[in-house]
Amino acid sequence: MHTPASPYPHLLSPLDLGHTVLKNRVLMGSMHTGLEEGRDLRKLAAYCRERAEGGVGLIVTGGFAPNIAGWAKPFAGTLATSGAAMRHRVVTDAVHQAGGQIALQILHTGRYAYQPFAVAPSRIKSPISPFTPRELSARGVERQIRAFVNCAVKAREAGYDGVEIMGSEGYFINQFLARHTNKRTDQWGGDYSQRMRLPLEIVARTREAVGKDFTLIYRLSMIDLVPNGSTWDEVVQLGKAVAQGGATIINTGIGWHEARVPTIATSVPRAAFAWVTAKMKAEFAAAGITTPLVTSNRINTPEVAEGILASGQADMVSMARPLLADPEFVNKAAAGQADLINTCIACNQACLDHVFQNKTSSCLVNPRACRETELVFRPTVAKKRVAVVGAGPAGLTAAIHLADRGHAVSLFDAAAEIGGQLNLAKQVPGKEEFHEMLRYFRRKVETTGVSLHLNTRVAAADLAGYDEVVVATGITPRDPKIPGQDHPKVLSYLDVLRHHHPVGQRVVIIGAGGIGFDVAEYLVSTDPQGHVHSTTLDLPAWQAEWGVTDPALAPGGLSPQRPQVSPPERQVTLLQRKAGKPGAGLGKTTGWIHRAALKNKNVEMVGGVNYERIADEGLLVTYGEKRANATWIPCDSVVLCTGQVSLRALADELQALGKTAHVIGGAFEAGELDAKRAIDQAARLAAVL
Ligand code: FAD
Ligand code: NAP
Ligand code: SF4
Repeated sequence: MHTPASPYPHLLSPLDLGHTVLKNRVLMGSMHTGLEEGRDLRKLAAYCRERAEGGVGLIVTGGFAPNIAGWAKPFAGTLATSGAAMRHRVVTDAVHQAGGQIALQILHTGRYAYQPFAVAPSRIKSPISPFTPRELSARGVERQIRAFVNCAVKAREAGYDGVEIMGSEGYFINQFLARHTNKRTDQWGGDYSQRMRLPLEIVARTREAVGKDFTLIYRLSMIDLVPNGSTWDEVVQLGKAVAQGGATIINTGIGWHEARVPTIATSVPRAAFAWVTAKMKAEFAAAGITTPLVTSNRINTPEVAEGILASGQADMVSMARPLLADPEFVNKAAAGQADLINTCIACNQACLDHVFQNKTSSCLVNPRACRETELVFRPTVAKKRVAVVGAGPAGLTAAIHLADRGHAVSLFDAAAEIGGQLNLAKQVPGKEEFHEMLRYFRRKVETTGVSLHLNTRVAAADLAGYDEVVVATGITPRDPKIPGQDHPKVLSYLDVLRHHHPVGQRVVIIGAGGIGFDVAEYLVSTDPQGHVHSTTLDLPAWQAEWGVTDPALAPGGLSPQRPQVSPPERQVTLLQRKAGKPGAGLGKTTGWIHRAALKNKNVEMVGGVNYERIADEGLLVTYGEKRANATWIPCDSVVLCTGQVSLRALADELQALGKTAHVIGGAFEAGELDAKRAIDQAARLAAVL
C-alpha cells in the first residue's frame, strides 16, 4: 500500500524519551499568558486543550513560581501545595484527553521579581526591576532548592508529564551562574564549580524526588548576551553535567531579559540562534551524550523547523508564539497545508507587550488566543448576504470568519491587491513577516469561498441587496497644513512606500510615530536604485549590527566591537512636535529596538519641534512653546508621516441614506489604530453577525 511521504519527516517523527514517546518534535515553549494567575485555571485548560488537539508533541506551561520569593509579580501563579495541585487537574486532564503531553515550568525569578520579597545570590538590583533583592543565607539557598523540588513533586501530583526547570534568561538559577550577579564567598559562589552547584543540586534532587518516569527539562542559557556572561566552556560544562545529572531534555535559552540584543522581535532573522544549539550538539556528540537538545527563537514555519532538524542542529524545536498564532500549526503541517498556517509575525504586540502591561496575552493575527472560551465562531443558522468593503486586515478578517461561519460574503477593494496598509508594512526592512500574513489571508479567502472583487471602488448605491454591510475602508493620511508643503521636495509616506517616488540624499521626516520610524528604516536601508538591504534577511550582517558572536570567542556571545553597520543610504532626521524622546509610544518590548537600530544608522531624532515653513532651503523649524531658535534644516526631501484620519466617506454616505452599516478598523477610529485593533474588532463582529 502506498503511504504518502510525510511533508516534514523530521519534524513529525516521534521522539523516544525512554519512559515515554513524544509524537513529534514540536515543543510548545513556555509563554506567560496571564491565564496562569488566580485559582480558576479553566481558561488555561481550554487554551492548552486546543494546542494539544492541534498536535503539539509536548506543551510547556507559562512559568509557575515554586514559592512566594520566586513570584514574578505579586500573586503570580504558584504551585506549592496539594490544594493547588488539585486545581491544575483541569489543565492536565484537558491535555491528556486531547492526546497530548504537558510539562509545568518552574520559574523562580530571583532579582527579576517585580515584588518586594525578591531574593538573589547577592544584593544586586537588576536593571529591569525597581526592587533590590535580599541576599540569601546558605539556609535560604537550601529553602529555594527544596521549593523547586516540592514544586516538581506537586506537578507530578497534578498530573503533569514533566517539569521544565527554568535555568536561563537571567532568572534565579542564571543569577548564581554569572560572576556579576553572584558575589558570594560561601559554597554557592566563587569559582564556576561552586556557582553551578545550584542547578546541579536542583536537577539531582528533583530527579530523585519525582522518579525516573517523569520528563525533566532543563532550560540552559547557551548564550547570555550580557557583558560578563558565561564563557562557552562554562556553558558546555554545565550542559553536560545537567544531562548526566538527570535531565531528560535540554532546552535552549537565548539572552538574559536585560540583554540589549533583540532575541525574538520580528527584525531578528528566522532561526537566528539555531547555530548555538548546534554547537552544543557537537559537544554532546563528542562526549557520547544523547540527551535531546531543543532549539528555539524565531522559528515560525514548518519549513524552517524541518530544515533545522534535518541538518542535525537540534533534536526538537521550541515554538511558543507560533502556537498562539495558530493552535493547528502541527496538524496543518502534517496534512500538507502549511500554506493555511496563520503565521506568527513576531510583532509581540498582543502577547509580550500585553504581559508587560499586566493584560492577558492574545495574538495580533489570532485574537481568539487565550480567549478560547469567549470568542467563539459558531456556524450560522441564518445565512446572510454580506458585503465587506475594504480588504485591509479589518475587512479580510471579517470576510473570512463570516464565510467560515456559512454566510455568503462579497469582499471589495479599490486596489489591485488585498491587504490595505499591510502592503506598505511588508516593504519595511525587518517587517518581512507581513508577507506571511498576506499569504494566509489570500489562501483563506480562496478556501472559505469569499467572493473577491479587486479594482472595485464601492459607493453606497452599489450595496443594495445585501443583508449586512461591513465598512472597512481604512484611513487617509492626515494633512498637517504646514506652510510650503506643496513644494516639490515634499512627499507623503504613500509616495515613498506605495508609489516609490525618488527620495533625495538628505531627508527630513515629519512625524515620529510608527510610520515615521518605519519610513526612516526604509530610507536608510534602500539605495537610490530601490534595492533594500534588510539585515533580517542577512544573519551575519544582523549579528554584526547587534554584536552577537560565537560564545567561544567572547563570554556571553557579545562581541567587543559593536555595532558594526553598513553606512546608511541617506542622512535622515526624524522630528516630532511633542517634547521628549521620539518613539516613546512604540511597542513596549520593541520600541527600544527601533530606536537603537536608527541610532546605529546615525538617524537624528528630535522632539519639541515646530514646523514653520518648507522652502528651497529645506525645513524651517523653531523649538519649544516660545518658538525659539529658528533654524533651517537643509534637505532634499521632506516626508510627511503625520498620522492618519478615518476614511468615512462610504460610512457617511450610507448613514445619510438611512442604511445601517458595521464600521470597523481605521474607518471606525484612526487614533491609535494598528492591525491588532483592526483584526480584533473585525473578529468580534464576525463572531456575532
Ligand atoms: P487599511 O489597511 O487601510 O485597508 C483599507 C482598505 O480599504 C484599503 O485596501 C483600501 O483600498 C480599501 N478601500 C477604501 N475605500 C474603499 C472603497 N470605497 N471601495 C473599496 N475599497 C476601499 N500595524 C501594526 O499593528 N503593526 C505594525 O507593525 C504596523 N506597521 C505598519 C507599517 C506601515 C508602513 C503602515 C503604513 C502601517 C502599519 N501598521 C502596523 C498599521 C496597520 O497596517 C493598519 O492599522 C491596518 O492596516 C488598518 O487596517 P484597516 O483594515 O482598517 O485599513
Ligand atoms: P501616529 O503613531 O499617531 O504618529 C503620527 C505622528 O505625527 C506623531 O509623531 C505626531 O507627533 C505627528 N503629528 C500628528 N499630527 C500632526 C500634525 N498636524 N502636524 C505635524 N505632525 C503631526 O501615526 P502613524 O505613524 O501614522 O501610524 C499610524 C498607525 O499605524 C499608528 O496608530 C501606529 O500604531 C500604527 N503603526 C504601528 C507600527 C508598529 O510597529 N506597531 C508601525 C507603523 C504603524 P506630534 O504630534 O508630537 O508631532
Ligand atoms: Fe506572534 Fe504577534 Fe501573535 Fe505575538 S501577537 S504571537 S508575536 S503574531
